[in-house]
Amino acid sequence: MSVQTVAAKMAEVELKDVAGKDPSPAISPLTPKVEEKKSENNSSTSAAAAGEPSPVVASPSPVKMPQVSAMKRPDPQQNGGEAFVNCDGTVAEAPRMKKVTSTDRERSLKSVTELVLYLVSLCAASYTDSSDDETSPRDKQQKNSKGCGDFCIKNIKQTDFGRREIEIAEQEMPALMALRKRAQGEKPLAGAKIVGCTHITAQTAVLMETLSALGAQCRWAACNIYSTQNEVAAALAEGGFSVFAWKGESEDDFWWCIDRCVNVEGWQPNMILDDGGDLTHWIYKKYPNMFKKIKGIVEESVTGVHRLYQLSKAGKLCVPAMNVNDSVTKQKFDNLYCCRESILDGLKRTTDVMFGGKQVVVCGYGEVGKGCSAALKAMGSIVYVTEIDPICALQACMDGFRLVKLNEVIRQVDIVITCTGNKNVVVREYMDRMKNGCIVCNMGHSNTEIDVASLRTPELTWERVRSQVDHVIWPDGKRIVLLAEGRLLNLSCSTVPTFVLSITATTQALALIELYNAPEGRYKQDVYLLPKKMGMRCFNKCILEHHMQYTQSEV
Ligand code: NAD
Repeated sequence: MSVQTVAAKMAEVELKDVAGKDPSPAISPLTPKVEEKKSENNSSTSAAAAGEPSPVVASPSPVKMPQVSAMKRPDPQQNGGEAFVNCDGTVAEAPRMKKVTSTDRERSLKSVTELVLYLVSLCAASYTDSSDDETSPRDKQQKNSKGCGDFCIKNIKQTDFGRREIEIAEQEMPALMALRKRAQGEKPLAGAKIVGCTHITAQTAVLMETLSALGAQCRWAACNIYSTQNEVAAALAEGGFSVFAWKGESEDDFWWCIDRCVNVEGWQPNMILDDGGDLTHWIYKKYPNMFKKIKGIVEESVTGVHRLYQLSKAGKLCVPAMNVNDSVTKQKFDNLYCCRESILDGLKRTTDVMFGGKQVVVCGYGEVGKGCSAALKAMGSIVYVTEIDPICALQACMDGFRLVKLNEVIRQVDIVITCTGNKNVVVREYMDRMKNGCIVCNMGHSNTEIDVASLRTPELTWERVRSQVDHVIWPDGKRIVLLAEGRLLNLSCSTVPTFVLSITATTQALALIELYNAPEGRYKQDVYLLPKKMGMRCFNKCILEHHMQYTQSEV
């Protein structure tokens, strides 16, 4: 709930309270109801609530740019009252304050106070964390209901919302729930001390709670500064997990959180679950001795796996590592289907763009690129693909996409999406040539696919127009729309389908169980794929069960 909304509700209460004593209507029937929008993660509503700067429209643009925050402007028709420009561009009248006598005020004070307290309590428990609390979580002293304070999150009071999110996620995670049910008696992870660095979402929470049910202790940080669901982090902290993460961390916070997970007295990890390799990298750099006790690393992303192979090549990998990314169960579901669904969600939430008829270039036709291309094609976009691998390039042609070089289409496209896992795929030279209003975003793991650093030069102006949406403006007035500062779009700006994440999370759990319980000598200091049979046995059953559930309910 935003400050404006609370203020508006307070004013409404005040007017209603005196209405009985005054025959004139307290609020004009024409006054639009100042509604509390259920703001979603990263929505403009939360941007407004977070007090982000409102845009200064510097030059005309063919792209309709919605207003960021509720901006006040004087409304002469309202006797000095004010109109508010809502986040969606509509104008709403601010509730006018009726003149009331001090006696009226005293009479109504009690009920007003009660209501204000109620509204303030709603603010504190806001699902989207749109409270105006700007204090850094690092400066807060928070404890859960059991008195434990070994965590650092945005707001422990959001725990109920987070619990509900986790319960919803459980419904769509049949494989993971089945694993929990089957293995919690055996406790295959008893004694495991897992330090994790992944996106902290409801789905990750289901994974962490499963690992805990199987006997593990967990300490966790986020692998992305934007993707943490604060309410989920709160529910985890309330449940006794040591979580160090919040949405909107700074780079410094990011490393500080990772450090808090590993640099702790009386607790040393013996397993690593990483997504992107930052945690592994940090331990290598700061606490190399820790590897003496670590039994293995489970890595989820292409980028992290690549870093592991580099370590292995250099002879520096000192424990066995499991490459979850290349497991067939992850690749064929998470990278492909997850991105196929969430690319549209991410673009829509940030830009409200219409997909039909738009020209889109997708860089990279691996699993992620295939998913993005398919989704946009299905929505009526004209999709071009760039590829450097001849097999994937041919696949793009076979699937009916036009294979191009980026410089051939860069002037004409409306949307550019990178999905390569590579560096500097979209460089400044290309951005200089993009047309006005071109949307630029990244679906790959790392934020270096788009050379965002090259846009931070004095001649370019940056305007934050929504949470996760920046306009970068050239001296001639041309602007490009950069999403999530080049970080991966779907995890920064949308939700991702839980079912596919269930499959990935189950693969991660199985990999942890395998590495933790493997007899000495089964795995050397190298990078491995999860034994296919092990994954498939569990999946066959879980997926079959899930499919049966659906078929039966359809019948
Ligand atoms: P992949 O290896 O299957 O595909 C990447 C493709 O990009 C390859 O075919 C490669 O040839 C191509 N490529 C590399 N450099 C290129 C360049 N300069 N121009 C054009 N093509 C180029 O990998 P993937 O599974 O598709 O994953 C891609 C990235 O997305 C990785 O960074 C991965 O971590 C990330 N990922 C994101 C999500 C998500 O939810 N957003 C999910 C899974 C993976």
